Amino acid sequence: MIEEGMTRIGRFAPSPTGPLHAGSLVAALASWLDVRAHGPNARWLVRIEDADTERCLPGMGDVILSQLAACALVPDEPPVWQTTRTPHYEAALEKLKAAGLAYPCGCSRKDIDEALARRGIAHTRHGERVYPGTCRGGLHGKAARAWRFAATTFQQAASNGPLHWQDRRLGAQQQDVAREVGDFVLKRADGPWAYQLAVVVDDAEQGVTDIVRGEDLADNTARQILLQRALGFPTPSYLHTPLVLGPDGAKLSKQNGATPLRTATPAEALAALDGAAQRLGLAATAADSAAEALAAWVPQWRDLYNSRP
Ligand code: GLU
Repeated sequence: MIEEGMTRIGRFAPSPTGPLHAGSLVAALASWLDVRAHGPNARWLVRIEDADTERCLPGMGDVILSQLAACALVPDEPPVWQTTRTPHYEAALEKLKAAGLAYPCGCSRKDIDEALARRGIAHTRHGERVYPGTCRGGLHGKAARAWRFAATTFQQAASNGPLHWQDRRLGAQQQDVAREVGDFVLKRADGPWAYQLAVVVDDAEQGVTDIVRGEDLADNTARQILLQRALGFPTPSYLHTPLVLGPDGAKLSKQNGATPLRTATPAEALAALDGAAQRLGLAATAADSAAEALAAWVPQWRDLYNSRP
């Protein structure tokens, strides 16, 4: 819960899998505007989410930071890189293990598909398998491949029903994590930390109060709120921004034309920002510089999304 007088902290948390594109700039701009709309003491952080090392491209974190700087989006503190934070994720996993809320899992994708088929469950959820809980009671002689969060046990002990929360743009939300997702992965056994664990630990330890990010991530929110509760962390407020769609109406990706943004000259950076601002429902700018345009959008953002100092 956000209490009165709390320092408001927002963040932009890109994964360095490619340079900024039109969609990620919308999230960066929105999170920056939300912080500035919260008054002079609020702080905007940038965190480079390179925990999933297999998907990240070398040097891309620095490319993103320089693109942001070209758009006058400069963090109030030095950026944090997730690869420097392993001990914090270890500590969180240990805490969950000690509470009986994390267990090793030896299932391959094929094992999960077979277990789901045996139960007559044919569906996957957004292409992800709902974990049927096979290893919740033990590894059945298999080697551990991953650590999972006992979401089902935790959710049932807490409420035994769907989780409800409010999104500042999307309104009332709900999800039954136990039924719709199942016990999700925290860490691959000898591999990277899962996004869900890393993001929850980092947001809490960086004191993030207001999460503003793209709507493609909205579906992760219930998982993250459950993890926050299991780890004794406060839950921030959430606002998910509109996506930038490709010409085919699908979410922008490298396949359908998510070309890197051009930010090499001040005029290009200003045009890129202007496009992002219009996606957020802000007025096209007549400003001469990125900094001037940003300053003019702050009161508009405050009116649209009601972020008071
Ligand atoms: N690193 C994630 C991404 O770029 C975003 C994380 C977040 O904002 O929660 O998709």
